[in-house]
Amino acid sequence: MMGRTIFIDPGRCIGCQACVSACRECDSHRGKSMIHLDYTDEGQSVASLPTVCMHCEDPVAPCAEVCPADAILVTADGVVQQADTTRCIGCANCVNACPFGVPKIDLGAKLQMKCNLCYDRTAYGLAPMCATVCPTGALFYGTVEELQAERPGVQVADTFVFGSTEVRTGVAMVVPADKVQWPVPGGLPVVEINGKDVRR
Ligand code: SF4
Ligand code: SF4
Repeated sequence: MMGRTIFIDPGRCIGCQACVSACRECDSHRGKSMIHLDYTDEGQSVASLPTVCMHCEDPVAPCAEVCPADAILVTADGVVQQADTTRCIGCANCVNACPFGVPKIDLGAKLQMKCNLCYDRTAYGLAPMCATVCPTGALFYGTVEELQAERPGVQVADTFVFGSTEVRTGVAMVVPADKVQWPVPGGLPVVEINGKDVRR
C-alpha cells in the first residue's frame, strides 16, 4: 500500500454527494466527477458507498494492461492516471478489465474517465478533493498510522479476491473487524486485514 492513500469507510458514508461535487471542481476534469456514489441496496436501505479508482498494485492496473492505445500511465509512485485524451479511443477495454467497476466512457467524447487520485494535488502533498470535503470521514486521506491514531482499532483491507485472482490495491477499505468473512459493501470479499491473511 502507498504511504499516503485514500481509505474508504463505507459505514460512515451518508450519501451527501459532497465528494461528487468537489471532484467536479478539479482542474484536470472540470465539470465531470470521477467519483461515483453507489447505493448498495437501493429501495431497501439508505446505505451508500463512494467508488474511486483503487490504484491496483498487484497485478498493476489491469485497465492499463489491456489498453490498446497505451493511454493509461502508471506513475512511479503507483498512481494510475486517467486516460490521456490524445491517445484514448474510447474502446472501453479498460471498463471491462477493471474488477472494481471504476472507469466510465464519455460516449460523446469517446474518452475514458476515471479517478487519478487528484494527482495535481497529491503529488504536492495535498489531500484529494473528495477527502477534503467529506463531512463524515468516509473518505480519509493519510497513512494507515494516521487513520489508526484518529480511529483506534480500525481495520483496513487492501487485498480482494475475484474467483481465483487476488488483487492488491493502493487504496484501502475500512472493514468491520468482526465481520471479515462478510462481503464488504460493493461485493468485495475481504481476505487480508492489516497485512494478515484471515481466510480459513
Ligand atoms: S477506452 Fe481509452 S483508455 Fe480505455 S482501453 Fe480503450 S483506448 Fe485505452
Ligand atoms: S481499480 Fe480499475 S481503474 Fe483503478 S487501477 Fe484498478 S483496474 Fe484500473
